[in-house]
Amino acid sequence: MSQDDLTCEEVLEQLFAYLDEELDDDRLAAIDRHLERCRDCFTRAEFEKRLRARVQQTGTAPAPDRLRQRLKKVLDRY
Ligand SMILES: [Zn+2]
Repeated sequence: MSQDDLTCEEVLEQLFAYLDEELDDDRLAAIDRHLERCRDCFTRAEFEKRLRARVQQTGTAPAPDRLRQRLKKVLDRY
């Protein structure tokens, strides 16, 4: 059976939806299978995954902290 084999192009087109798990199980499984066989797409997927993890970390962590410090300063005046 090769009807659900994806091309690299198809995988890259759906990579972001794949990482967000916005695809149905069959699609996710088909991409998983492709990534197991295709080193290029696997490397690309890993790169995007790490980039996202970093953006999420730096994007959310410092902001609330700064906000809390500013609020604390304001509250300390009263
Ligand atoms: Zn590929």
